[in-house]
Amino acid sequence: MFSPTRGQAYFDSQPGKIVQNERRRKRVKHICPICQYDELFEEPYDEDGVGSDEICPCCGFQFGCDDFPEKEEQIKNWRKKWIASGCKWFSCTRTAPSN
Ligand SMILES: [Zn+2]
Repeated sequence: MFSPTRGQAYFDSQPGKIVQNERRRKRVKHICPICQYDELFEEPYDEDGVGSDEICPCCGFQFGCDDFPEKEEQIKNWRKKWIASGCKWFSCTRTAPSN
């Protein structure tokens, strides 16, 4: 039975599952530019720099909304604020990873 918590070791022991593993890895690699949380549902910004409107469940930043009017500046400030407040997990509907 597949169990997500067994992660990489499981796939390494199942050569037939390599393709599935590749797909899976691509799908989950959407990294938050503020807190580095890497399981966002969507890419935070597309190639034109347009935000996804997703709210990061980790730091609470909404891409395309909280970055107005100056993206770089807002991201920097948000990160500072988030770290200063103790890097708290933001979402009540999604749970924090154990690491
Ligand atoms: Zn984040």
